Amino acid sequence: MPELPEVEVTRQALAPWVEGRTVRAVTVREPRLRWPVPPRLPRLLAGHEVLRLERRGKYLLWRFAHGTLISHLGMSGVWRVHPLRAPPAGRHDHVDLRIGGACLRLTDPRRFGALLWQPAGSGALDDHPLLARLGIEPFDPRFDGAWLYRHTRGRVAAIKLVLLAGEAVVGVGNIYASESLFRAGIDPRVPARRLGPRRCERLARAVRAVLAEAIAVGGSTLRDFVSASGEAGYFMREAAVYDRAGAPCRACSTRIRRLVQGQRATYFCPRCQRK
Ligand SMILES: [Zn+2]
Repeated sequence: MPELPEVEVTRQALAPWVEGRTVRAVTVREPRLRWPVPPRLPRLLAGHEVLRLERRGKYLLWRFAHGTLISHLGMSGVWRVHPLRAPPAGRHDHVDLRIGGACLRLTDPRRFGALLWQPAGSGALDDHPLLARLGIEPFDPRFDGAWLYRHTRGRVAAIKLVLLAGEAVVGVGNIYASESLFRAGIDPRVPARRLGPRRCERLARAVRAVLAEAIAVGGSTLRDFVSASGEAGYFMREAAVYDRAGAPCRACSTRIRRLVQGQRATYFCPRCQRK
């Protein structure tokens, strides 16, 4: 599943192809994504310039003067850029945006992605139901140890689950939660409210560092988005604990353990990560 770093890398890859360019045509072959693609989308967008391509959590926000196209990759979505002519559409190629001279194609086999329109003047974008409850961005200057400390008080759930919930900070998906907790030396089962200010500080730094590294690694594969795979999960090669059950910890050689929390796999080093 695409996580925040993959979405940010997608944004960086698409931005030069769309920002300051005009939508020439929109083709919707399959409107049945997670929610129906608005039937009037082609008319709404044609002839209008994309001012900026932004990201909020795992949503891409295509900002126009008259509104915002909100898109989400769901479980399996990928945007690819075809600089000149796109090849014939396959059965999972649901939407084409012809912007400037390029074709941007949304491919989504499982169709959990989304493409929605929010007109300007219908309230602040931050108040949109999909965005209103998102936590702070991990790279927002306000996100630090003190923030994490404040937002974990009274939370009896395990810190891994609190990170995944995305209300304290957004974008720490399953891979990055395990990796961040390893880097901070915190056992994923610790009740969030038990973390003191110092461990919250370490964790906030770890979250930022792990996500920044994943984006940097993905950034080096930006070319792949042009007429190529754009596969997610490039961070995995360098994971410290994720998907490494039974393998030796890179720091202390203790075997990495796997457990299930909230129906998701968690990986951790029982020696490096303290309760
Ligand atoms: Zn270890």
